[in-house]
Amino acid sequence: MSHPFLDLAPLSAGRFAAIEDRVARLLGTRQDVLITQGEALLPLEGAIRGCAGPDTVALNVVTGPYGQTFGDWLRDCGATVHDLSVPFHTAVTADLVRQAFAEHPEIDFVSLVHAEAATGNTNPVAEIGEVVREHGALFYLDAVASVGAEPVLPDAWGVDLCVIGAQKAMGGPAGVSAVSVSERAWARMAANPGAPRRSYLSLLDWKERWIDGGRRALLHAPAQLEMLALEACVERIEAEGLETVMARHASAAAATRAGALALGGGLEPYVHEAREAAPVATTLRVPAELDASELVARALESDPALPMAAGGGALAKEMIRVNHYGPDATRGTVQSCLAALGAALADKGRTTDPAAARRAAEDAWERPSAAGFAGA
Ligand SMILES: *Cc1c(COP(=O)(O)O)cnc(C)c1O
Repeated sequence: MSHPFLDLAPLSAGRFAAIEDRVARLLGTRQDVLITQGEALLPLEGAIRGCAGPDTVALNVVTGPYGQTFGDWLRDCGATVHDLSVPFHTAVTADLVRQAFAEHPEIDFVSLVHAEAATGNTNPVAEIGEVVREHGALFYLDAVASVGAEPVLPDAWGVDLCVIGAQKAMGGPAGVSAVSVSERAWARMAANPGAPRRSYLSLLDWKERWIDGGRRALLHAPAQLEMLALEACVERIEAEGLETVMARHASAAAATRAGALALGGGLEPYVHEAREAAPVATTLRVPAELDASELVARALESDPALPMAAGGGALAKEMIRVNHYGPDATRGTVQSCLAALGAALADKGRTTDPAAARRAAEDAWERPSAAGFAGA
């Protein structure tokens, strides 16, 4: 009896390379794109450990929990780290980055998260890239939560290491990821005696044995299920059109934001400015007297499949996340989330206007730009 998951033919090097090329096209990049056999934390950590050492002076931008993790890895590599933290309800600006370079001109590495699914903000990468380029630093970007939801353009923005994962707006698998690597970044890694070598974390191993060898022999048996799922997910994006997929996410964010405001009951967008709110997920602040975890639990009673969660860690009391990404970036899902939140708030004795929320979400879905979302 053959089984669709279990009895798979081995994945050839040619197929693996073709999937890499497809991901490169999605990112519009001419850099080397490496598919990594693991969740996005694998290339995120591999790229930092490959580039950073005791001579590195890093500017680490913290706009959410991932930035904190990157700072820990950089320090672990012996780097001098200047953290630039901004409150989670806002985004970082190019001016703040410029100011950091003025204070520490020796900065030669900048780490940044593009969109933060955990806090709901998105950072102006193009503008920041200009500043980073002016100073000749290496630019590392976590685009896991932005790819598919908003433009991610490593070449145009001067990103040297751009990490993506398929599990958010791409609507794909979580166990496989990719990184695009510039020539400058390869050179930095090659010159770094501390860069992982002969290690699962090593990007250099793949450079030397896979890319430089003409992508003819894989380093180890590839994860077939994940690779086939990644290929299928890129295929689905190509069929719908990347611009359309991104527009769907912009609409979902605009509709959730407008709907929550119209709903009332004390819910407010967590990210103050719509232009700083991520298309991938909308975070909402609950009134001080209420508990976000309780409210979400109540809202999920009617439909446990709704893509909502309370904020992580210290944010669990005050923040609700509506994760309208991938197949959940639809009118129906957004409206269901708003309706469930309305019912949960009413349950807590709050006055809400579900009909107004419905209309506001519908209007904003049609015209996300009027709500401050650039879209595609
Ligand atoms: C989701 C996400 C990742 C991947 O982490 P998971 O916890 O495995 O989902 C990495 N970086 C960012 C910014 C993310 O939003």
